[in-house]
Parts: sequence; structure tokens; C-alpha cells
Amino acid sequence: MLSKKITDGTEFVVFDMEWNQPMPGKEYPFDVSKLTGEIIEIGALKYVYDNGELLYRDAFSSDIAPVKYTKLHYHVKKVTHKKNADLLNGEPFKDAYSKFRKFCGDAILVGWGSSDPSMLKMNLEFFDMDSKLNMFFLDLQPIFSLFAGLQGTQRSVEAAVDFYNIDKNEIFHSATADAHYTGAVFEEIFKHNKPSEVISAISSSSIDPDVPSDFSFVGPECLDSASAFATSKSFMKVCPLCGAPLSVKIPSFRIRKSQYALLECREHGELFSRTRVKKNRAGNHYASAVMRFATQNDYWLVASKKEEFDKYGEKGKPVEKTEDEEKET
Ligand SMILES: [Zn+2]
Repeated sequence: MLSKKITDGTEFVVFDMEWNQPMPGKEYPFDVSKLTGEIIEIGALKYVYDNGELLYRDAFSSDIAPVKYTKLHYHVKKVTHKKNADLLNGEPFKDAYSKFRKFCGDAILVGWGSSDPSMLKMNLEFFDMDSKLNMFFLDLQPIFSLFAGLQGTQRSVEAAVDFYNIDKNEIFHSATADAHYTGAVFEEIFKHNKPSEVISAISSSSIDPDVPSDFSFVGPECLDSASAFATSKSFMKVCPLCGAPLSVKIPSFRIRKSQYALLECREHGELFSRTRVKKNRAGNHYASAVMRFATQNDYWLVASKKEEFDKYGEKGKPVEKTEDEEKET
């Protein structure tokens, strides 16, 4: 959706963050669900795309002193190898973020997984700062899976580092080290593949984190599953952002318990949709649908399901043991 054009000179900021968590059972004088993690470190590397190559430019690193969760949660302590005393040496989040935002400039943000931009926005909102990032974001994880031939699976950054035999000379799970490793994987993806193909995958997968990209629908109770499926039709007719009618790229088809489609808003781009029919306690059926701006992983998902549907029909590829639930992706 609204993807950013990548040309020579386009900058990328590969970043990673660490955050501390509230202590379980402890009472806080604010709504903990509005701050599920408080950022304690940001690490980032800047690259510029030039003539089929990714060139390293600059690095950014900041330790942040938390003001709400000032004692390290044991899990965070274990994973990040930080000590409580380390937290005192950090700078205020406001200062760190304004330096980070300046460092990013007009770049496309790149991360591993999609949790960092949402955590960043949550912290900005909680601390009454402007929560608009005004940058596109690219989740490198599905891009790696695509080029490594591991589509549909989620791998850790360490698995990707191993895949490309990148030197592991830093300990994982500090923001600076993980940003460094993610950057190294990004460089390898460019080295091992046709730049034009990498660019095309990246362009069709970068999202605007300031705009909602994921929408859900829960239908009314119905007596049978066919009528439950029918209730999600109107949800899939219009763009959830602008209300414009959607055109159909891949008409909806049902395979096992899910119905898939690929739709398009002329203004906002392609949308992946999936509807499942579930049963409530009373035994009634209802539709549970998601629609989201399609990323690389969604294109793969809908294409591979369509292929299976064309070959085997609604029942899907015969399996020895029927899986009740397909893995959520
Ligand atoms: Zn639209």
C-alpha cells in the first residue's frame, strides 16, 4: 500500500529496540495496557541504496533511562544481559527519540518482525509526544523467508545470520547488535539475489505505520456456516480506509475452513482477506474475517492456497491427520 519508490539514493534505517516490562502483580498508578513495554535502548544502522547495492553509511545507538519501569523485569534481564544499574546511565526517551528521528531523516525504517514500530508508537503516545512516525516501515523477516525459500515461516534474526554464514562476534539481543545483524542480513539478501527482484519485493511490502493496516470483522450468529460466510461479504466490498469499492484481483475461494481473496483499492493498494467461520458455545456459526494491506507473505499465502484449491478443491490437499486449526499467519 502507498509503497515508497526505491531509487538510487533511497536511504534505509535498520533498527532494533529493547524495552522493559511491568513487574507482574505490581500495581501501577496508570493503565499498564497503554505501556506494555518501556523502551530502554534503540540501535540503528543507516544504508543507502545505490546501483543495485546497499551501502553502509552511519550508525546510531542510545541507552534510555526508563521512568515507569525502572527495575528490570527478570525476563528482560535474562535476554538482554543488562543490569539495573545500566538503566541509570541512559538518557531521557524524549532526547533519544528526537536524535533517532533526526538520524532517520527521509529513510525507510527496516526491522525484524513488526513489533518495534508499534512499541515505538505506544511509547510516543504514552509520553504525550507526536506518535506519527512519518516514515515507511519494512518488516525484513518475510523478505528473508521469501528469498531463502522459506516462505510462510517465521525465523529469528539469528537463524537468518546462520543462513548466510554471517560472523557472530556480538551477543544477540542488544538493540545495537540486533540492528547490526539485521543490517548484515539485508546486505546479504541484496548480494545473493537480483537487485530488481529485491526492490520489487521491498516496494510491495513496505507499509505506512501511521495508517491502520489491519482490519477485522465479526459477523452475527447464523444457523449454518454458509450463511455465516455470506455475512462477511459486505465487509470485503469497500476499502476500510476510504470506503471506495474494491476490485477483485483473486476472487474469493474457500479451502477447508478458510475463505481467501485478494482485493484492491485504487488509491490504497492491494488487500489480503481471509474469513473463517467459527462456532460459539450455543452451537451457532459466525464469521471472523480479517483484511489487511497485503505484504509479501500475504501474496505468497493467497497464491499457495489458490494453487492448492485449483488442484484439490475445497477440501484441500489430503493429509493423513486432519489439522483442525491451520497456523495463523
Ligand atoms: Zn482506499
